[in-house]
Amino acid sequence: MTQELGGFAALELHPNIVAAVVATGYEEPSAIQQQSIPIILAGHDMIGQAQTGTGKTAAFALPILHRIDPSKREPQALILAPTRELALQVATAFETYAKQMPGVTVVAVYGGAPMGPQLKAIRNGAQIVVATPGRLCDHLRRDEKVLATVNHLVLDEADEMLKLGFMDDLEVIFKAMPETRQTVLFSATLPQSIRAIAERHLRDPKHVKIQTKTQTVTAIEQAHLLVHADQKTSAVLSLLEVEDFDALIMFVRTKQATLDLASALEARGYKAAALNGDIAQNQRERVIDSLKDGRLDIVVATDVAARGLDVPRITHVFNVDMPYDPESYVHRIGRTGRAGREGRALLLVTPRERRMLQVIERVTGQKVAEVRLPDAQAVLDARIKKLTNSLAPLVADAEATHGDLLDRLTADIGCTPRALAAALLRKATNGQALTLAAIEKERPLVPNSAPRERTGERSGDRPERSSADRERRAPMPLAEGRARCRTALGARDGIAAKNLLGAILNEGGLAREAIGRIQVRDSFSLVELPEDGLERLLTKLKDTRVAGKQLKLRRYRED
Ligand code: ADP
Ligand code: MG
Repeated sequence: MTQELGGFAALELHPNIVAAVVATGYEEPSAIQQQSIPIILAGHDMIGQAQTGTGKTAAFALPILHRIDPSKREPQALILAPTRELALQVATAFETYAKQMPGVTVVAVYGGAPMGPQLKAIRNGAQIVVATPGRLCDHLRRDEKVLATVNHLVLDEADEMLKLGFMDDLEVIFKAMPETRQTVLFSATLPQSIRAIAERHLRDPKHVKIQTKTQTVTAIEQAHLLVHADQKTSAVLSLLEVEDFDALIMFVRTKQATLDLASALEARGYKAAALNGDIAQNQRERVIDSLKDGRLDIVVATDVAARGLDVPRITHVFNVDMPYDPESYVHRIGRTGRAGREGRALLLVTPRERRMLQVIERVTGQKVAEVRLPDAQAVLDARIKKLTNSLAPLVADAEATHGDLLDRLTADIGCTPRALAAALLRKATNGQALTLAAIEKERPLVPNSAPRERTGERSGDRPERSSADRERRAPMPLAEGRARCRTALGARDGIAAKNLLGAILNEGGLAREAIGRIQVRDSFSLVELPEDGLERLLTKLKDTRVAGKQLKLRRYRED
């Protein structure tokens, strides 16, 4: 086992559980996990108090998975959650952590779905039952023995359950379980009503409280941006256009995300590299040295890999993924504003993470202002400013060194100096037209439309589906006479379906009806084109550029 597994491996969990956790990309246990797991493993009752987003699910799921007996086909652990969404989330998390434990099954029991299949799953030997109290009581009314074999009980978000009026249901459930069971209670707050439950139903509980102390981070200007999870890469690329940074560190949650984002940035011409726990220590040091001396400008890191990182050049911190506790937020943004300089920290927030934003504001005692994605005008201004800044210093003596060459070239070509200067600018900008229209065309995100909370979103995005998963989604069946073609340009290159359509219509000389579905993914796009004359069409489109990049459309065979 490598040293990086140290964090979770040191907790004495079953190696298959540790392996599954590491495979999800967690590098280190969070504070609540570090403290709760040994207590639950030892069989104690426990009261855990910690804010949202601190990683409570794994804090109970991992030790409980360790303690159940997969060879026994009967319910052994019950997790109660206040809502159907939370129950589904917890059930999904259990399934993820149990991936390498054959024979372990999880059933989610909640209202609004037929009772029959739920009961059947329990009777078929699911060891882990994740339920909302109301629906579970319905089951108990049909069969008072369903919980007779359960010897671990977890009340997740206990304060929320009481707020929703589940007190009486809880009492019914407690009675239906063996008194010798282990009971663990998690709650963000501990009002009197919760203490009373603990008093009556927990035996000699250990207390774990994760303190969220106020910390000051005054030298750092903080802002947040609301964005959907699948738009993060595009949002980062837009922000980079307008932020005036020297060196920048981006934080994500998993090793895979460090690699994905770093390569998206490199593809855009940024000097970027990934920094994660899988990278050998000496290689990590090289990355940090490169960031120090300017061979790199952007490092995409996990929390663990960036620990102790001290690079005075860092002017910006992007929290691309939410930190899992306010302390690590403070820690992360402390990577900028070093040595009394000013720093800027940006936090991307998905709709379901808004509560964590509030926690961060409370803990830091500061408001984290909302910013919007830069609009096309702002991007245009920023690009022109960059160009101006790069050319201005050359103007002073360029005429002395290259003036004669200019005269000669204008004479040879037979053009005006203005025409030649424009041609050189086109070259310097790689053919990008620096106009509002061109920039509007290449931008896939609509600024100033903050995402709204969608129903079911909480269950929908955790564990978050990786973009790789999404990209693996099977394409739709193809219509007769059409061929599927692929380009390596995707949303992260600023491509939208309408850009592809426009380019193919214009340069390919096709009728709109001849073009089938266009699917834009993060790192590539698929377009359905007529099979008839395809080779000719692709040759015609050979030099077509979209958003300043070569389209390079090729026939795509899925096999
Ligand atoms: P809580 O129940 O305290 O609100 P969750 O258990 O829902 O928090 O966890 C919040 C997020 O943090 C989830 O997306 C989860 O996958 C992630 N997470 C939990 N533990 C870790 C860890 N040790 N390392 C990285 N991410 C983690
Ligand atoms: Mg939770």
